[in-house]
Amino acid sequence: MVAACGGNAASDDSSSPATPVSLRQSDMLVLEVQPIQVCDDTGFICAQVEFFEAITDKIWSQANIDVEFLPLNQLNDSTYLTTDEDEFLDLSFSGNPGDFGRHPDSTEDSGPINLWFVDVIETTTGLIQYGNAWIGLNGILISDDILDFNNGLGRIDVIAHELGHNLGLRHSTFGAGPAENLMSSGLDRTVPESIDDIFPDGDGLSTLTSEQIEVARTSRFLTDAEADESLPAIAAADAIPQEAPPILLASTSPTPIAVPDASPSLLTWLLVLPLGQKVYSRINR
Ligand SMILES: [Zn+2]
Repeated sequence: MVAACGGNAASDDSSSPATPVSLRQSDMLVLEVQPIQVCDDTGFICAQVEFFEAITDKIWSQANIDVEFLPLNQLNDSTYLTTDEDEFLDLSFSGNPGDFGRHPDSTEDSGPINLWFVDVIETTTGLIQYGNAWIGLNGILISDDILDFNNGLGRIDVIAHELGHNLGLRHSTFGAGPAENLMSSGLDRTVPESIDDIFPDGDGLSTLTSEQIEVARTSRFLTDAEADESLPAIAAADAIPQEAPPILLASTSPTPIAVPDASPSLLTWLLVLPLGQKVYSRINR
């Protein structure tokens, strides 16, 4: 079962408003992200890529977490330009380390977070979605609709939000729910229009509560800043684009990689908008 990102009333959370807290004195932690650009089989038609790194960093600096994007990998497989839930499961967990553009050091619950940029996140309802992430596990799916600012669809905080899911945060726990909280569902959340709207500036948006910060900082995906400095050589080697073995899906289906609690309930859908027709119109773009 997927968790709808915007369907629930926020009343339950309104009694405990999220309160931004000043950073407690603790060590800087690093969250590495392995971005993967999905392209068609020829490698010429690709999903758009934008890290929003400064924005993501500013948001997570509330938790003293530095988000570091590794060199971009490329996955040439037309199948995944439009990715549904089952395909996201394959991208995230099937095959061997390094498959599907994943970082070779990534596991289900440690190492760099693998983040795929795709054209469309397909749903059973046919509605459009911006992002998708496993709660507490490795894997993010981002639709390039987050860049569709000309049509009013652009959103600059989606990557930061999805990373929060990987770090164990949900839409209605630890103070999420209010419009200004980063982890509130897409329909409840006020999305900052620029980096100047993000806490502690401007409208004070994309906040994290002290509870959310405490929980996120316990994640195994985080490494300390000192250890991270010894890794640049590995990161550089991974910049080489990788292609997914075309036979992988068929060969792995009988013996899927074990996914802890791999029920669809772990999957969270960021935002649903009544723009289903657009999903299919984009396939031929
Ligand atoms: Zn979400």
